[in-house]
Amino acid sequence: STFAEIDLGQALNANIQRCKYVKPTPVQRYAIPISVAGRDLMACAQTGSGKTAAFCFPIISGIMQGQHVQRPRGPRVAFPLALILSPTRELSVQIHEEAKKFSYQTGVRVVVAYGGSPINQQLRELERGVDILVATPGRLVDLLERARVSLELIRYLALDEADRMLDMGFEPQIRKIVEQMGMPPPGVRQTMLFSATFPKEIQRLASDFLSNYIFLTV
Ligand code: AMP
Repeated sequence: STFAEIDLGQALNANIQRCKYVKPTPVQRYAIPISVAGRDLMACAQTGSGKTAAFCFPIISGIMQGQHVQRPRGPRVAFPLALILSPTRELSVQIHEEAKKFSYQTGVRVVVAYGGSPINQQLRELERGVDILVATPGRLVDLLERARVSLELIRYLALDEADRMLDMGFEPQIRKIVEQMGMPPPGVRQTMLFSATFPKEIQRLASDFLSNYIFLTV
């Protein structure tokens, strides 16, 4: 099977080719069609499995195809359409780099925000507009408290390495973040939960954050 068989749109397919991705990895082969079909997803997948593309492709494709979302021009408030949460600065930077390659010339703008680094540069990037926000939970809570980011328009939520985020003690921040999104009407927000392991705590997150989801293990 090939990426072209999954209808991701011409611009994204061109970027996939440019990245020299020829054959989808197992997690990509199963997760992408599920997400493109609009279903919530719980995927058990390890680092190196190609999970970054598995959650980025449906998000980018969905934003490209979505009808133009009117975004309020609040005073310096950013309204991303997609949120990717990741446990560390390193992983966030890596996801941001990949997501930028995948969204080249699509008009989809990706911004990253992580802690342990001055916030001002990140605020300036957010002010220039953001479709996909890649963030660590602590820094995002900070941005929400400063009212510099609103999660009102989030249509896609991806949690990467969820087990690691819980190990690092981010559960309260994650719950706070998801609570700010409110309960969408069915079909409006899509959530993808990625974790290397599937202990009780992750099962609980899945049942709290996902609706009618498909469980995938590769
Ligand atoms: P990840 O698990 O998302 O961190 O991806 C691991 C590595 O595999 C990264 O360097 C990706 O760029 C690469 N990769 C992911 N999917 C593919 C694919 N379908 N074909 C070739 N390389 C890939």
